[in-house]
Amino acid sequence: MDLYEHQGKELFRRFGIPVSDGRLATTAEEARRAADELGGPVVVKAQVLTGGRGKAGGIKLAADSLEAEQKARDILGLDIRGHVVQKLWIEQASEIAEEYYLSITFDRGAKKPLFMFTTQGGVEIEEVAATSPESLVRLHVDALEGFQPWVARRLVYGGGVKDPDEQKQIAAIVEHLYRCFVECDAMLCEINPLIVTPDGEVKALDSKFTVDDSALFRHPDIAEFRDASAADPLEAFAREKGVIYVKLDGSVGIVGNGAGLSMSTVDVVVVAGGRPANFLDLGGGGSAEGVVDALEVIARDPQVKSILFNVFGGITRCDEVARGILEALRRIEISVPIVVRLDGTNANEARQILADAAPPNLHVEPTMLDAARRAVELAA
Ligand code: GDP
Ligand code: MN
Repeated sequence: MDLYEHQGKELFRRFGIPVSDGRLATTAEEARRAADELGGPVVVKAQVLTGGRGKAGGIKLAADSLEAEQKARDILGLDIRGHVVQKLWIEQASEIAEEYYLSITFDRGAKKPLFMFTTQGGVEIEEVAATSPESLVRLHVDALEGFQPWVARRLVYGGGVKDPDEQKQIAAIVEHLYRCFVECDAMLCEINPLIVTPDGEVKALDSKFTVDDSALFRHPDIAEFRDASAADPLEAFAREKGVIYVKLDGSVGIVGNGAGLSMSTVDVVVVAGGRPANFLDLGGGGSAEGVVDALEVIARDPQVKSILFNVFGGITRCDEVARGILEALRRIEISVPIVVRLDGTNANEARQILADAAPPNLHVEPTMLDAARRAVELAA
């Protein structure tokens, strides 16, 4: 789950990383009031889940609250790479003497958290890595050893920060960022730019923050950050039901058990000349109740013209899935045809159950490819 800048900064603040005072606004009037409350010059910042907002005109300085209102009007509704600006973060403007870069992420190759620091901040880190790789300090942290003060010192000295007071502030931020990263179950915490003001104060001017979805149950406060209004309503409904659901833009709804089989099914539908409407994974259990939930989600998608059920029974019992399909047909109205391919544990029982009930609009096919072809045909 990606957090908005202001949400990431709220977490930074909780972990002792200095950030500027700010307010959220969704209208130009709110932006003016926010600027009034903050006093003095402000920066008006588009809150969208994409980077490079500055270059796209989504970040503007304003000398006073009237100007803040004008800038807010300019930025609201702006399309930044497909993200329409609906929220603004109004923040006390900072004076900038230096722009640095600091991040921590997972290095999957090394299986360790990786810090990156450079005094060449403000621009995209990929650019720094390409044009002046020597200025980029990379340092792994051994998760078992945990954070050690030398890690921060090596980053700061390695990056060539000379001023002792600055060194101390950055070292403290590095330590706080490590705690923030670990305790929030983050996958990325990036500060770009980490600025030094003319008075020598170091603070985070931006935040890019990704939290591991699978750990959100441990962080109800962070889970609450999820923007229900921005999310696809169907995806929100699926999440409520505990169903793994990804919306795609075709017409064949796909239900599989296990991510691997579900993704293969997506491929096979394409091979059969169709376009998947979604990707829905029943998971390993595949209980009858789970099947009902999955069909309930899919039945709400008006783009779905046929449903392809592809289940390979291992731990999942096919008869259980078949009962789930019949139960779903009893409980909810499904107007599109369903094509079923079942194989593995109790597949014969499952086919018998479906044959006995023989609901209209349900087609059982022997193989994955046959089933995909049938589903594509029925969706046309
Ligand atoms: P991004 O473009 O999405 O990465 O958004 P940032 O929050 O990083 O802002 C982009 C740039 O705007 C920064 O690198 C700064 O140069 C500038 N900027 C942002 N906030 C301030 C501020 O308070 N004062 C000044 N002078 N510049 C700012
Ligand atoms: Mn930035």
